[in-house]
Amino acid sequence: MSSADLVVVGGGVAGLVIAHDAVRAGLNVTLVEAADRVGGLLQRAEFGDIAFDIGAESFATRTSGVADLIADAGLPLTLVSPASGGAHLVTGAASGMLRAPLPRRTVLGIPADPSAADVVRILGSDGAARLAAERDLPALTAADEPSLAELVATRCGPLVLERLVEPLCQSVYSQPAGAVRLSRLHPMLWRAAVSGGSLLAGAEACATDDRAGAAVGGIAGGMWRLAAELDGAARAQGAQIRTGVSVLRLTPEEGSVAVITAEAVLRAERVVVATGSAAARALLEPADAPLESTRRVRVIAALVDTSAFDVRPVGSGVIVAPTVPSAAKALTHANAKWPWLDETLPPGRHLFRLSARAADTPGLETPDDLAREITLLTGIAVDPGDIIASTATDYPDAVVRAPVDDLRRSELRTAGIHLAGASVAGAGLASVIPHARDLAASLSSVSSSRSTV
Ligand SMILES: Cc1cc2nc3c(=O)[nH]c(=O)nc-3n(C[C@H](O)[C@H](O)[C@H](O)COP(=O)(O)OP(=O)(O)OC[C@H]3O[C@@H](n4cnc5c(N)ncnc54)[C@H](O)[C@@H]3O)c2cc1C
Repeated sequence: MSSADLVVVGGGVAGLVIAHDAVRAGLNVTLVEAADRVGGLLQRAEFGDIAFDIGAESFATRTSGVADLIADAGLPLTLVSPASGGAHLVTGAASGMLRAPLPRRTVLGIPADPSAADVVRILGSDGAARLAAERDLPALTAADEPSLAELVATRCGPLVLERLVEPLCQSVYSQPAGAVRLSRLHPMLWRAAVSGGSLLAGAEACATDDRAGAAVGGIAGGMWRLAAELDGAARAQGAQIRTGVSVLRLTPEEGSVAVITAEAVLRAERVVVATGSAAARALLEPADAPLESTRRVRVIAALVDTSAFDVRPVGSGVIVAPTVPSAAKALTHANAKWPWLDETLPPGRHLFRLSARAADTPGLETPDDLAREITLLTGIAVDPGDIIASTATDYPDAVVRAPVDDLRRSELRTAGIHLAGASVAGAGLASVIPHARDLAASLSSVSSSRSTV
């Protein structure tokens, strides 16, 4: 048995940030990661000597969380911006597909300006007029919030849901708009919409003038490097980081928590659970709680040898509407988006990432599949022989859900068990990192105030 001030369960970015900040603040920290490498959803893949992200590949610049972390921790990483191409949308049915740039000023697919040419191009003039009338509806209130799908369809019209919000929601958040509420998915937009009385007012308040997909940053060499550097920095400060060790159970005891793994029992004054939602639920709910099924998320990367893509026909990539007969919900033209990646590829070679609509549904396995899908989504004919390499990665626990309710969370806190990561902070590095840093700071300050008493 060994003991620590703090045990962190899960070595994704949240767990690594907490381990790093807490050890630097003087705590004795052990981090336990089930996989054989840290990073969680920050993962790298390689084609020969070309390394690239097969998990998260950017961060939203709406918070300075990533930049602050890199600066404070002194990590040798260079922040970069994506190329200016912006993202496109593919919508419609096979008979009449529309490929168009995503409207510039939209938030979660809700346009700020219904009369903008890029909005009318996607909705048509009738659809845009229906959207414009949203401002005249009775003021939106916070009471009885319906699902995002119902909210958008009833207020803005079915085309806004079908062509903009549903594709964005499914490709960015991996959830259908019918299964989520705006207040949880995008609290800032919800608050602005309630305060302005309409979704259009909310979008107007939150939209930026950036091209769709441009309000993000990246790291030269790939986002996976953030996890690798944090791991190294935390170890250098004295954190114990153990990979390949799965936590099986947490048992609160008098003044400490027992962290039970297959090999050992660790004891700590405080424990942070920084796993995905399903794993957190399995660790934190009473043993007789019903198990929730989770959907896997699959990302496929393909290296394509044809100079037809040198013109970047779809900018940084496409978001795919559910009505399009495609096995993918999004495609990123990765080297068109990231100049650092483009520089690593030989001339005429292009790297695509495809996010599967459903990890269990076939359609993105073979060179034939990949050539067909890339052709459909980009409008550029690709031959199966042009696909020179491909790889797929599955994420079994990437869909974000609150693992426990607020009451249980506060009981756990009292017992010394805290929650971090996307399951409580919301998906995305811009949310996860500041939340993890705040938690590390509060755990460290409690500890230092105790040691001075
Ligand atoms: C395909 C994909 C692309 C994404 N792209 C972006 C993007 O471009 N920009 C962005 O901001 N966000 C993106 N996200 C979201 C972002 O990656 C996540 O919100 C963030 O990385 C979550 O980090 P985390 O530390 O909370 O969880 P995770 O990264 O899921 O880490 C949890 C860790 O806990 C470990 N674990 C689980 N159970 C146990 C156990 N019992 N014992 C020990 N360890 C355990 C897991 O192995 C894992 O390493 C993307 C997500 C996916 C799936």
